[in-house]
Amino acid sequence: MTALLEVAGITAFYGTSQALFGVDLAVGEGEVVALMGRNGMGKTTTIRTICRMMPHREGRIAFAGRDLARLPSHRAAWLGLGLVPEGRRCFPTLTVRENLIAAARPGHWSVDRVVGLFPQLAERRNQKANTLSGGEQQMLAIGRALMTNPRLLILDEATEGLGPLIRREIWSVIAALKEAGLSILVVDKSLKELTAVAERCVILEKGTTCWSGASADLTPALTDRYLGV
Ligand code: ATP
Repeated sequence: MTALLEVAGITAFYGTSQALFGVDLAVGEGEVVALMGRNGMGKTTTIRTICRMMPHREGRIAFAGRDLARLPSHRAAWLGLGLVPEGRRCFPTLTVRENLIAAARPGHWSVDRVVGLFPQLAERRNQKANTLSGGEQQMLAIGRALMTNPRLLILDEATEGLGPLIRREIWSVIAALKEAGLSILVVDKSLKELTAVAERCVILEKGTTCWSGASADLTPALTDRYLGV
């Protein structure tokens, strides 16, 4: 099977400072993959390079069989990469509905379908994004990414800083999207929820893939070694 996303040996720099030293990962069609690693190990940088928000220097990123090198980020979105960025970043002075419409591309997802997935957003449809709670903003950020009708949904810190009820809701939405066949790459700190939803895990250490395999094979010794504080 050819992977939907294939990242092989990528390196990347912030100015002269090297952040990625050889990252490998793949996401198959309909698969959920967890991207893990302690703080500063390169998860966000990997996601930025995949979404063409920063260039990689070496290695290859292929999406749906196309080499993404030198494609600007709007083309990457056009190809079907839907990003929920760390820190959410919705348009603060636009309403929920306007934020969703601004992201829309033709396909299954519509404003009605997004608010069907997150009923709390339905009540807030005409409210400005900056009046929403953190959890509602994360729902909106996921909704915005879905409105692009992505082939791959990428969530950077899916539930960071959110209360337990909202976290549970976000995880159940991710599980429902997986059930519906969407391919997902997800970063989060909650190991239990991550491994419950992801078939496979990729662990980064110091900008390199140090382990990848089935979630079921992620032993306590591995999590202690690579994810322990
Ligand atoms: P976190 O969980 O803390 O977000 P991460 O695994 O996502 O961590 P990155 O944010 O990708 O890690 O950081 C990888 C490396 O790149 C770190 O050494 C970090 O200090 C460095 N880095 C990240 N952003 C920048 C930047 N804008 N300028 C310079 N160096 C950066």
